[in-house]
Amino acid sequence: MTVFPPEVAHLRRLDRDHLWHPFTPMQAWRDEAFPIIRAADGFELIDTEGKRYLDGISSLWCNVHGHRVPEIDRAIENQLHQVAHTTLLGLASEPSIRLAKRLVDLTPAGLNKVFYSDSGATAVEIALKMAFQFHRQKPGGPEKRDLFVRVGNAYHGDTLGTVSVGGIDLFHAVYGDLLFHTLQVPSPVALRVPEGRDRDSYLKWCDAELERVIVENADRIAAVIVEPLVQGAAGILVHPAGYLKRVRDFTARHGILLIADEVAVGFGRTGTMFACEQEGVSPDLMCLAKGITGGYLPLAATLATDVIYDAFLAPPHEAKTFFHGHTYTGNSLACAAAVASIDLFQRNDVLANVQRISKCIAEKLAPLRDHPHVAEVRQKGVMIGIELVRDRDGFIPFPAERRTGHLVTLAARERGVILRPLGDVVVLMPAPAMPMELVDRLCDAAIESINDATRLSL
Ligand SMILES: *Cc1c(COP(=O)(O)O)cnc(C)c1O
Repeated sequence: MTVFPPEVAHLRRLDRDHLWHPFTPMQAWRDEAFPIIRAADGFELIDTEGKRYLDGISSLWCNVHGHRVPEIDRAIENQLHQVAHTTLLGLASEPSIRLAKRLVDLTPAGLNKVFYSDSGATAVEIALKMAFQFHRQKPGGPEKRDLFVRVGNAYHGDTLGTVSVGGIDLFHAVYGDLLFHTLQVPSPVALRVPEGRDRDSYLKWCDAELERVIVENADRIAAVIVEPLVQGAAGILVHPAGYLKRVRDFTARHGILLIADEVAVGFGRTGTMFACEQEGVSPDLMCLAKGITGGYLPLAATLATDVIYDAFLAPPHEAKTFFHGHTYTGNSLACAAAVASIDLFQRNDVLANVQRISKCIAEKLAPLRDHPHVAEVRQKGVMIGIELVRDRDGFIPFPAERRTGHLVTLAARERGVILRPLGDVVVLMPAPAMPMELVDRLCDAAIESINDATRLSL
């Protein structure tokens, strides 16, 4: 048992007594020697005992330039000397205006309107409502399109609308009765394929299903929602090249909107500013959150085309307004941080760093492909998922109660590295601006921790 100084022991007791942690089995948590983070320095977190940990998951996929970045700190301080928050309901604010222009310039062509909120889930919720209402108000006659198409194992957030378009049974099944009906297309990934199929024939079938579902329901579908290139929460599932483009082509052909959920993949994670760029795709709606403020403050944005926006224009009494808003929509401190973060992307050429470090990661992790307990190493840019299995033949998983992914987290923590797995998929998500030597350390610690955690007998 770790012995903590009295002040820290007190804090730990208060945490156990009063905090309900997100996505956390609380019974197991209470027995754990969890670190309490007090400060940070660059890419390291510092706990109450002064122990330093490399932030290997970008503080859950949102940190971009490191922590305590002078330029972002200063932008927030400067804004604090003006005002922390004012409402966008009936008033405008300078940081939200400046950021909107920056986002429109940065995102794929056609996305000219910015609607703010404060988390990935709200950004997606807003896109769903906009898409639904758009078809009822659009020029050339309203249509009652009431179906959304989602991809298998999708994750778009934890509010009920976003859970409805989600597909991760462990998280979503219990809420089934509360959700609206959707259509599902298979996730185009082929680690485990049904009997009688190989990888290629399975991926071809996924494409055929996509086309079939869209064509058969074409006049009832409001929108297709996708995580472009990489399905994050499903275990860093990387889509084959061309899939996103095909979704765009099929949807465009049938007057169906495409919602790109770039909450995880946006802001450099996949090697380009936005994942859609890699397939030359312009979606109708784009959801941004996580990395938008460099990982500093809760902020999200839903970007829409002029065509969508214009369908909401009418004299006020016609009630075509988008009746949606959150109290902290467009918070000034968060918008100021976001503008500073975008400036840093350019000043520090962060995308070039992503190219460099993602190549280094691929090389460092290559030996894992022969590891007896590694089913697959998946990577796109600085999003990496290493799937652990008991038996590589047939990709038989470890028993869930072994908590193998969690054992890797504990082993990494001993080595001064913070990881957070998705089940038995070990996730590495270095900040896009992380320097090479720290990325090296992250990969070494991950490999050693995987060896430790898979060697242990149950
Ligand atoms: C994290 C995530 C969300 C939800 O974002 P929150 O800020 O946690 O609500 C939505 N979509 C994707 C793809 C995500 O990775």
